[in-house]
Amino acid sequence: MARYTGPVCRYCRREGTKLFLKGQRCFSPKCSMEEGRNPHPPGGQRFGRRRTSSDYNAQLREKQKAKRIYGVSERQFKNYYKKAAKRKGVTGDHLIEQLERRLDNSIYRMGFAVSRSQARQLVCHGHFLVNGRTTDVPSFQLKDGDLIEVKSQKTKAAPFQEVVNLKHDDCTYPWIEMDYSKLMGKYKHGPQKGQFDHQIQVNLIVEFYSR
Ligand code: SF4
Repeated sequence: MARYTGPVCRYCRREGTKLFLKGQRCFSPKCSMEEGRNPHPPGGQRFGRRRTSSDYNAQLREKQKAKRIYGVSERQFKNYYKKAAKRKGVTGDHLIEQLERRLDNSIYRMGFAVSRSQARQLVCHGHFLVNGRTTDVPSFQLKDGDLIEVKSQKTKAAPFQEVVNLKHDDCTYPWIEMDYSKLMGKYKHGPQKGQFDHQIQVNLIVEFYSR
């Protein structure tokens, strides 16, 4: 199925919360979820259409929210779940770990892009090396210890120079180690329990697929 390329703010309005899909705009008063803007769900629900509040609806919404935050398709998301369910341990943790190990997500976490969609684009355009090899597949799964760096020919590009000038501290995510002066980062390990994105109630997603 083709990737959705329409306005993404409707996703936030649908979920009733900020999903941070548009970079700087999400932190500005222009965000649709800000007071005085248009925080109503899309599809005319403000005109009286009922929203169901069943368990199923809560599970479905959580799955949709996670899928949209990480920018993956329905099929990809289901495949991640299937792989997670086959592994020993907590399925929800394995699911989030796979999403976190995606190259586009890690580029976003490293601060090379302001949103996951921008990170996806940068990866597709072949701006990054993983362990010294050009990797242009956004869904590429990073392994513990992988080294990610901006290609030397691209380091002078404006967005990367901005990163060099603005980022002086280490990455805020404990599973990533950064050297911003060299535009390079190391994926130390998958996020561990307690380090996951608290915006997502992963147990509801597992319940959704276990029905
Ligand atoms: Fe969501 Fe960002 Fe749009 Fe606000 S600006 S509605 S947080 S995508």
